[in-house]
Amino acid sequence: MSTMHKLMVIMSGGLSCKDVDERLDDYVDGTLPFFTRLRMTMHFFMCAACRGYVKTYRKTIDLAKSSIKGPDHQGADESVDEALVQDILKNSAAARDAD
Ligand SMILES: [Zn+2]
Repeated sequence: MSTMHKLMVIMSGGLSCKDVDERLDDYVDGTLPFFTRLRMTMHFFMCAACRGYVKTYRKTIDLAKSSIKGPDHQGADESVDEALVQDILKNSAAARDAD
């Protein structure tokens, strides 16, 4: 491992993108130990790729959850109302801020 690479790993919370990917489920669920969450958060701070990835991941989960709650929204594109989508986006932003 080169010095530059080592430095980047340390600065990104000691986790590689692969480590982050493997723990993403638990991170989003909030079941990771505090210190691991902190390292993940540091990685997201440093790594735009993983930041974008977790954002998409969370949005997908939120949409999946909302479609479980409301069977009417399953597989019918025209029934997705704009207010609901805005609400989901707002909630996922609030959840992110609460971290
Ligand atoms: Zn990364």
